[in-house]
Amino acid sequence: MNSHSVLKNHFGFDKFRPMQEEIVDSIVHHKKDCLVLMPTGGGKSLCYQVPALLLPGITIVISPLIALMKDQVDALRLNGVNAAFLNSSQDRFTQDRLIEDVINGKIKLLYIAPERLSKQSSDFFGFLKQVNVSLFAIDEAHCISHWGHDFRPDYLHLSKLKTHFPESPIIALTATADEHTRQDILNRLHLDEPNVFISSFNRANIRYTIEDKNDHFEKLIEFLSVRPDQSGIIYCLSRNNTEEIAERLTERGFESLAYHAGLDPKIRNDRQEKFKRDEVKIIVATIAFGMGIDKSNVRFVIHTSIPKNIEGYYQETGRAGRDGLPSDALLFYSAGDVVKLKSFAVSESSKEQTMIMLNKLEQMSEYCSSYSCRRKFLLNYFGEKYAAPCNNCDICLNDSVIEKFDGTEIAQKALSAIARLNERFGITYVINFLKGSSNAKIYDEHKYLPTFGKGKEYAVDEWRHYFRQLIDQNIIEPSGEYNVLKISSRGKAVLFHNEKVALMPYKTKTVARKERKGKIESDVEKELTKEFDLNLFNELKAQRLILADRENVPAYVIFNDKTLTELAVKLPTNNSSLANVSGFGQIKIEKYGEPFLEIIRDYCQQHNISNHSDSSIVSTRKYKDSETDTLRTSLDLYLRGLTPNEIADKRNLKESTVMEHLFKFIVSGEINILKFVSNEKLQKILSVINLHGDKSLKILKEDLGDDYSYNEIKAAINYHYKKRINTLN
Ligand code: ADP
Ligand code: ZN
Repeated sequence: MNSHSVLKNHFGFDKFRPMQEEIVDSIVHHKKDCLVLMPTGGGKSLCYQVPALLLPGITIVISPLIALMKDQVDALRLNGVNAAFLNSSQDRFTQDRLIEDVINGKIKLLYIAPERLSKQSSDFFGFLKQVNVSLFAIDEAHCISHWGHDFRPDYLHLSKLKTHFPESPIIALTATADEHTRQDILNRLHLDEPNVFISSFNRANIRYTIEDKNDHFEKLIEFLSVRPDQSGIIYCLSRNNTEEIAERLTERGFESLAYHAGLDPKIRNDRQEKFKRDEVKIIVATIAFGMGIDKSNVRFVIHTSIPKNIEGYYQETGRAGRDGLPSDALLFYSAGDVVKLKSFAVSESSKEQTMIMLNKLEQMSEYCSSYSCRRKFLLNYFGEKYAAPCNNCDICLNDSVIEKFDGTEIAQKALSAIARLNERFGITYVINFLKGSSNAKIYDEHKYLPTFGKGKEYAVDEWRHYFRQLIDQNIIEPSGEYNVLKISSRGKAVLFHNEKVALMPYKTKTVARKERKGKIESDVEKELTKEFDLNLFNELKAQRLILADRENVPAYVIFNDKTLTELAVKLPTNNSSLANVSGFGQIKIEKYGEPFLEIIRDYCQQHNISNHSDSSIVSTRKYKDSETDTLRTSLDLYLRGLTPNEIADKRNLKESTVMEHLFKFIVSGEINILKFVSNEKLQKILSVINLHGDKSLKILKEDLGDDYSYNEIKAAINYHYKKRINTLN
């Protein structure tokens, strides 16, 4: 087996994402320690899961979140990988049995919580020495550092790994780490000449939008109204807030549940499960929510207040769109919230810590109030260069709508201040200098320079607003550790040759929003605009739910929405074409392929699509018409009073085919189920379906006996299915 066949067979993917392959390679072939920085949803898990299957021994995965562990293990098992987790929620017996399996080499991946490695259970190291550990994977590695925003003392035990297992490579993975934290991870884990992989943090499918907080509840309603059936998370600052908003949303027809640390753990868990299983679409939560959530079809993340720092914001918004499909991150901003948070930051911790926190909050606030591409701001914050416009944030989308003014004079003032200060100061100092500020600290020798105090007419915030744009337009360039402002070659042209600069005015962000269908041309958007039949998609979705129920896992663990979309677009009808659908590995083809293929074959037959096994794109319109033709004709005749038998005669079809047509309209609600089966019988059949599921007609028939016809049972199955779909949507 090589890494590509593992990727294909076990995970159903054709290609590695950027860097995954190099990472796998450096572990499997060079036994190198690695540090991997990838954004949430970037595909970190595969970086150790693929090596785990290629290496001879066991891979130990250290992960802080018990809930996540279970989902990951479930997902791996469904892919035919022998994975397991060991945590305190299991009883002694289960743990002992597992340990035996590990010793016997039956487990390829073992997930454990960091507490396992603490002193009290230090014999765990001893235990691990008895088995052949090929690799240690440390998820959420930033938890080891005080510098990170999520320090966990238990992670410090991981420092001993290298001493105990000098031969086993370590791969540390995180989605958030600034330079400090990164270095800290390397030091504390004693990684040995590690390969460091830093992937782009850009989440191209997420659209960032900031709105003024005024009247935000109505704005929220407006936002949700155009996204019916979509799943999302709404973050609030306080527990009361979550309760209140969840209640008001539900009143307005958007069923949602609150989630916060003050709830009984059982209720919390229950709500989380409901969300994961798509039984409730919207969760209104404090930031306690989401750490254990790996749900791939979260379509939006909303912040009703400004988060404390960009790291947290990016992590939270990153929970949207893990499946790569277009998703939204919306934040309601008010300067008042910033003031509130400031007071928290001050009382929270030591003086040094307070400074760090305040500075982070300051940056977050600047992100919200600036008029530059959100994506560029975020990526720059994480040390990544990015060329705006991204065309997928509010600023870029509004860019052409906002009227700019001739800002050449403003730019020249800013530039000459920078020049007078010999390009040796940062933005705050330069602005204070321009304002001729008397309370800010300005060196005496600067007070006599001609530009000193030449920018009094603008407030500090307004200057910041202009400076940001000048930076965005590459007229000014921050450089070095302290972001000292330098003048670019374009800046020189502005300063010395009067090149024109257009700027966006301050405080005029009341702009008509552009429609989603605008100018975005990303791959994701293209993917979505491929046409497919929504009915078919829903049918596939219902099938997924049936399988998920059977395996007792959330639906997205079986397949994500992207896989279902691909099925509906590519219409594979046999195993080999199924292999072209992302997410269908060999194991999943064998385990779950058939019921999906059956649905698609039926669909193709009904719509006269022949041999449509490969990736050509189906234009729905055509098939919708033919669908309308054949199904609707049967319906029309039925509604005119013909019996199914007469319809069959007239149309030269089999009666069973006509029945199949008519059953479809039970699902759509156009034919009342009671036309086919009495209410009494229906209730009985439904209770039997609850017992056995609705997969096998034969089993149902056996249980129900001769009093129930196949048609009655089929009708009831369709009715049951309709109810399923209703809860799905
Ligand atoms: P992270 O841990 O970085 O947040 P995951 O490992 O959970 O991200 O991966 C996010 C999603 O991307 C998952 O649904 C995963 O199946 C999918 N994915 C990962 N690698 C690939 C790949 N090479 N091709 C297609 N999908 C992938
Ligand atoms: Zn942008």
